[in-house]
Amino acid sequence: MPPNTSPAVVLERAAAACTARGLAFTPIRQRVLQLLLEHGKGLKAYDLLALIKAEQPGATPPTVYRALDFLTEHHLAHKIERNATFVACTQENHVEPSLFLVCPKCSAITELQDRSVMQALCRALAAAGHQLDNPEVEIGATCPNCKGS
Ligand SMILES: [Zn+2]
Ligand SMILES: [Zn+2]
Repeated sequence: MPPNTSPAVVLERAAAACTARGLAFTPIRQRVLQLLLEHGKGLKAYDLLALIKAEQPGATPPTVYRALDFLTEHHLAHKIERNATFVACTQENHVEPSLFLVCPKCSAITELQDRSVMQALCRALAAAGHQLDNPEVEIGATCPNCKGS
């Protein structure tokens, strides 16, 4: 069965994770995560700021950026360096590195939920004396939609 990644479920899980970890899931943090969920291809920080400002004219950039920092720090969202975008994490209790497939054609971002791949990669890196410096491992991979066209 594919994991349940509907926005309502992901938000609920995030709220539960914050409660369990003693973290405050403030309205701005919730709203930022919700907007990321609504934009499957991710949002750049300034696009997110524009969306928040349209709803809450009093919102300041630091408020929005702090909310993003909170979400990424606690693995509720991920930063994809390749596109300089943020995406909501769709995995439950995500604490390990994971693989992100970034489509070069449409910029769709898919979080690949395959632990064995990441474990093998981390083992191979360790064997070569290296260590991941970023829990978001990005690779370019044409998505099923673009592959067909
Ligand atoms: Zn994740
Ligand atoms: Zn694509």
